[in-house]
Amino acid sequence: MPFEEEGGGTEVIPPSFEYVAPKTIPEAVSLLEKFGQNSKILAGGQSLIPVMKLRLASPTHLIDINRIDGLTYIKEGDGFLKIGALTRVSEIESSDLIKKKYFLLHDAAKEIADPTVRNLGTVGGNISHADPANDLPATMLASDAILVATGPKGQRTINAKDFFLDTFTTALTHEEILTEIRLPAYTPGTGSAYLKLEKRVGDFAIVGVAVQISLDKNGKVLRSGIGLTSVGPTAVKSTRAEEQLVGKKLTDETISRAAALASEDSNPTSDLRGPADYKKKMVRVLTTRALKKAYVRIVGGGEREE
Ligand SMILES: Cc1cc2nc3c(=O)[nH]c(=O)nc-3n(C[C@H](O)[C@H](O)[C@H](O)COP(=O)(O)OP(=O)(O)OC[C@H]3O[C@@H](n4cnc5c(N)ncnc54)[C@H](O)[C@@H]3O)c2cc1C
Repeated sequence: MPFEEEGGGTEVIPPSFEYVAPKTIPEAVSLLEKFGQNSKILAGGQSLIPVMKLRLASPTHLIDINRIDGLTYIKEGDGFLKIGALTRVSEIESSDLIKKKYFLLHDAAKEIADPTVRNLGTVGGNISHADPANDLPATMLASDAILVATGPKGQRTINAKDFFLDTFTTALTHEEILTEIRLPAYTPGTGSAYLKLEKRVGDFAIVGVAVQISLDKNGKVLRSGIGLTSVGPTAVKSTRAEEQLVGKKLTDETISRAAALASEDSNPTSDLRGPADYKKKMVRVLTTRALKKAYVRIVGGGEREE
């Protein structure tokens, strides 16, 4: 079904494209193979359509995956929280399971844009778009998520740390679809938080910080994950800050050292949202706060304090 451009090519109208709506994943994969680099998957359309309206992308074919059954779910199993790629951000926000145990994801989902965008935008789309200003990529890095890609050769898994290659570029091949997001299942002693600084409610982040920590019985850090939003060409995993915390108790000193390393690992640019050195300082501030918030959530018994 062709969508014809009207009004002589104004930049608010996307260029013409063919629209196809497969009903199965194999069908979608073969359409991606058939139409090649000029085709794009359409999920919630909340990033792709604006990009097309600005003529930053002009795909000849849109492959709408919304009619494919079985890509929308939130469930625990096999040691993971599993999320179908077509799950809407609003479903993350309203899920009792996520609200109760997966604070990081719940915090971030609530902060994304506005209710309309959250109702349409998908978890898979937010991650696959690989915009460093999107909120979910940093949460994937902090929680060491595993991303399941389905392509012509079947399924493969990609660790979040290997997924975000560059701005708008992921490890997915053109013929692959992100079908499932797997987060290590919640274990007692784990706490997490996402903090976002924005110019106004619903805006993209000036800076965002995702943290997840697990403590042992003696209160020492078993595992820590720190992901940063909007401070580099991709979401940033601050490995040095993570490693610095492992084996230690969370104290003002260890938190401050980790926050300083996270700030050093960030690489923001100056833009309309603020100068680079301000953003680096805010990484430090938000990492400190997020680590303290995650800790309070652990000692509070793992339940949300709100
Ligand atoms: C006004 C506005 C404000 C916003 N503010 C924020 C914000 O504060 N924080 C934030 O995180 N985001 C924000 N967004 C972006 C929003 O969250 C998008 O929904 C999200 O980036 C893309 O998800 P989508 O499902 O809409 O994907 P689409 O727009 O349909 O697709 C985006 C890209 O991902 C690809 N893609 C989609 N799904 C898959 C898949 N399963 N496998 C492989 N490739 C896929 C598409 O081909 C396309 O290239 C905002 C958007 C708008 C319009």
